[in-house]
Amino acid sequence: MENALNSENAYTLSKTLLDILACPACKGGIVHDETAQKLVCTGECQRRYPIREGIPVMLIDEAELPDEEPG
Ligand SMILES: [Zn+2]
Repeated sequence: MENALNSENAYTLSKTLLDILACPACKGGIVHDETAQKLVCTGECQRRYPIREGIPVMLIDEAELPDEEPG
C-alpha cells in the first residue's frame, strides 16, 4: 500500500530507514506498526521492537515476543 502524500507529522519513519533495518534476531524485514508505534519483524521470530522518542530500539533484549501475553 503506497501512500506518496504522507502528511508531515512530527513522527514518521522513512521507508529508507525501514529498508535498511533488519531484525537482529533473525535478520528478517521490519515493518512499522503505526498504531502500536512499534517495529514488527516480518521474519521468523516476529519480535516487536519499541520506538523511544522516535528512535527505533533494535535490541533483542528490548523486544517483545509475539507469544508473550501482555501482563
Ligand atoms: Zn525477527
